[in-house]
Amino acid sequence: MAEGAVKLRCPICKKPVKSTDPDFPFCSERCRTIDLGKWASGQYVISSPVKDTEDEFGPESEAERPDDE
Ligand SMILES: [Zn+2]
Repeated sequence: MAEGAVKLRCPICKKPVKSTDPDFPFCSERCRTIDLGKWASGQYVISSPVKDTEDEFGPESEAERPDDE
């Protein structure tokens, strides 16, 4: 077992990568480029705001009103 070398897996191809690898955390420059391409093409979307369309059902719905006179 080598000391000081942490083994992780390439996030692209899942091959084991050593932390001492120049392309870490990727196994190769190819995988690094693929990852960059993913970001550039928008495959990694951090968050897309979902529009809330349930406003028409407000808390003041008249169906809840007691109807005893
Ligand atoms: Zn890889």
